[in-house]
Amino acid sequence: MKADENNGRGEARRPFPASVKAALIDMDGTLLDSMPSHARAWHRMVSELGIKCSLDEFFGYEGMTGAATIDLIFRRELGRPATEREKVELYARKTGYFNEQPRVPVMPGAARMLETLAGRGVRRVLVTGSGQKSTIGRLAAEFPGAFEEGMMVTSRDVSRGKPDPEPYLLAMEKAGVLPSEAVVIENAPLGVKAGAASGAFTVAVTTGPIRESEMRAAGADMVFPSMEAFADALPGLLG
Ligand code: MG
Repeated sequence: MKADENNGRGEARRPFPASVKAALIDMDGTLLDSMPSHARAWHRMVSELGIKCSLDEFFGYEGMTGAATIDLIFRRELGRPATEREKVELYARKTGYFNEQPRVPVMPGAARMLETLAGRGVRRVLVTGSGQKSTIGRLAAEFPGAFEEGMMVTSRDVSRGKPDPEPYLLAMEKAGVLPSEAVVIENAPLGVKAGAASGAFTVAVTTGPIRESEMRAAGADMVFPSMEAFADALPGLLG
């Protein structure tokens, strides 16, 4: 079910920016192969509330903040918004279930991509809907030097998470770049939507069950079938 429509050629809807000054990079499913663990943790927590859900639906919510995901499920299943207290408690429970699982692997190709960007003087900003200290904290250990102090936007920094463009607009502000000088790197349709709405050139990497056509529909300018394929193509794209 992986994206295979472009055989890794990453054909672009519009030209890759001539002068990229910053790469705005998602974390879960992009730098860390963490989505299966997140989906299992969400499924366990939501099932315990007596709500019927499927494992796969949580891949579709990827990119949203935890609070927004809980609110969406409450509105749909219980016909009311979640309270602030429920959002905090249930997200903490989900995070606990995530942390009980084995350590998630680093996404193959991610380190190479970050090294290429650093080597070309492209600023890197992490842009994640996550608020999980455990996973965010791993980045410094797994990708030393990849993200400078302060070059990070998490769920705590924004009032409207992905698919709203706010996280990516804030990341551009931190990097001091215009949308025309930035590239967003994402693995989830809601994140791609946020990137596209920010005006930045948006690259989607399909690292899970979501198809290329969904990434294109969300507004991806370019789609790669794996992070390794993107890491292979990146030196050529940067010129
Ligand atoms: Mg992601």
